[in-house]
Amino acid sequence: KRFDLAALKARLEGIRTEDNPALLRQKSRDFYWYSPTLKRQLDGVVADIVASPVGEEEVLRVLAACFELGIPVTPRGAGTGNYGQAMPLAGGLVLDLSRLDRVLEIAPGRAGAQAGALLADIDAACAPSGQELRLHPSTYRTASIGGFIAGGSGGVGSITWGGLRDLGNILSLRIATMEATPRIFTLSGEEVQKVAHAYGTNGILLEVEMPLAPAYTWIEAIVGFTDFLDAAAYAQALGEQDALLKKLVSVIAAPVPQTAFLRHRRFLPDGMHAVLVMLAPMGCAAFESFTARHGGAMLFRSDLLPPQETKGLPPLYELAWNHTTLRALRVEPSITYLQTLYPHPDPLARLARIHSLLGDELPAHLEFVRFDGRITCFGLPLVRYISDERLDAIVALHEECGIPVFNPHRYTLEEGGMKQTDPAQLAFKRQADPQGLLNPGKMIAWENPAFDFATGRTYLFPGLDSRN
Ligand code: FAD
Repeated sequence: KRFDLAALKARLEGIRTEDNPALLRQKSRDFYWYSPTLKRQLDGVVADIVASPVGEEEVLRVLAACFELGIPVTPRGAGTGNYGQAMPLAGGLVLDLSRLDRVLEIAPGRAGAQAGALLADIDAACAPSGQELRLHPSTYRTASIGGFIAGGSGGVGSITWGGLRDLGNILSLRIATMEATPRIFTLSGEEVQKVAHAYGTNGILLEVEMPLAPAYTWIEAIVGFTDFLDAAAYAQALGEQDALLKKLVSVIAAPVPQTAFLRHRRFLPDGMHAVLVMLAPMGCAAFESFTARHGGAMLFRSDLLPPQETKGLPPLYELAWNHTTLRALRVEPSITYLQTLYPHPDPLARLARIHSLLGDELPAHLEFVRFDGRITCFGLPLVRYISDERLDAIVALHEECGIPVFNPHRYTLEEGGMKQTDPAQLAFKRQADPQGLLNPGKMIAWENPAFDFATGRTYLFPGLDSRN
């Protein structure tokens, strides 16, 4: 064995650990298989042991023991990430945080919770105060708040509130370092960006404090258009209607809604491009008028249907964001996807250009968001996968059209993001994880400071478990 697991187990006496092969395998994976590239690269990744501490003290004991024995630690919330983020590339220990699941405090405008608390459970605890989280991924019912902050970016709610990168959408984070005697820091303001979206490479989130918004029984609507660009223009304009409070504005080009949204199929006439909307109920009449003005067809309204008609339907947000991809690839296994941003000026002109160039190879999916104070959209276009070379060519074509791609076929932070070092995250890793034991292989700036992003080459982590 490469790691002294017997010595580790002796030090973790009283803490729940598992080394049953089936469980190790299950706790060593996430939704990386959305990407044919990552599926090939990461299929064999497996931890040597999983520890599931309850409470902060046990987490600190696990960290100290692993530090002493030089065992890598990969944190895991619910394992719903898409890029192998929670997969232990160098083996070692998976730190399962799902038992740190307590909601700690609810106050006007904010809630505190342990990092492993599920998003839906936090909202359930906030409901009696008439409040809810501002934003959540479409994996709301299964994902943890710590995993969302460490691995996610935004989602349902981002049309009104922006993303996790926006100052004010994470209030504070209590984190533990990976040292002989782990230290605890509380970060707030700009400082949260040191560990937010760092894939757990430079600290373990123990507790988080998040801002809240007023809770509503959101109305779910699907609006249909026969022309895709009319649907996109309507969604953009609806996003810009500040007096209509929205939680979701998504556009999915036909025929994807008809083929992939099986339980909503009867509401979706052939040929109709679908705009999914979640709207605060007081705006319904105004929303009807706005939609009529744009010539949209109201195909579905959750509040106007008798309960027997909506029974068994998934919540609308589970047709959106990366759930669209999931539903599409369930019916057509060769489907994969990209993540793009259509920046100002003229986001819709960029969108029209790329889709005219790629046609059926790239069925369109847009998620409208508030981005630096302006409404624009991210793309999660579906891709009919042919080969890695063709996928890279499609990425390059986007970049030529001024459409940045956040590549979901890469397991490193940098290649999935801004393709450059984040100096604040790197500096914090030097302090918080001096031996580089936290989630190895994910931060290129740490593993290979000389790596040149300009070459466009894909980084391959040399430590990728040799058993693969
Ligand atoms: P995990 O997958 O367990 O972990 C994610 C990352 O965070 C890993 O790098 C892990 O090491 C690290 N981590 C986890 N817990 C901690 C901790 N306590 N301390 C330090 N690091 C930690 N994401 C979005 O942002 N928006 C979406 O709308 C969205 N939709 C999705 C839809 C589908 C169908 C799927 C499969 C995924 C989607 N995702 C989305 C990705 C993912 O579900 C979310 O980001 C989710 O919040 C991750 O939470 P998790 O608990 O599953 O994290």
